[in-house]
Amino acid sequence: MESLGTTPGVLEASARATAEVSVSKIAGACLCGAVKYSSPDEPAMQAVCHCKDCQRQAGTAFSVVVAVPALSLKIEGEENLSTYQGTGSSGKSVQRRFCRSCGSPILSVVEMIPELLFIKSGTLDDPSWLRPTMNIWCDSAQPWYEFPKGAQTFPQNPPG
Ligand SMILES: [Zn+2]
Ligand SMILES: [Zn+2]
Repeated sequence: MESLGTTPGVLEASARATAEVSVSKIAGACLCGAVKYSSPDEPAMQAVCHCKDCQRQAGTAFSVVVAVPALSLKIEGEENLSTYQGTGSSGKSVQRRFCRSCGSPILSVVEMIPELLFIKSGTLDDPSWLRPTMNIWCDSAQPWYEFPKGAQTFPQNPPG
């Protein structure tokens, strides 16, 4: 008896369904193109961070970060990244890595969560799939910012 899985029509349908579900694509670059990155993995988390450090580093109201498994991220031109090491609220280090020729912030390495890297989503080639519903460090959100309906908000880091 032929199994459903070998029927061409079913395979095509399932390939289409997979393509529709798996729309996120982690690939990006800095403004000058000296640093490029990619990961085949799905993002572990998408969040809007309103912390003061992100505001200062990004030079704007917040940063939108996409967390990816650290081991899966490939960086091209890593020698062009500079690192500013600060301290998070935990007292542990946060390394903010940016392109040394154009200054684009690319990613953060958070000592508290070493298994993930936090990419600045503005550097994604195609950010159309982003749906960052989680807002963190809302205590320091700029006063004019209105949280979208249904947004998840945390005064500081999410618990746990
Ligand atoms: Zn650059
Ligand atoms: Zn932040």
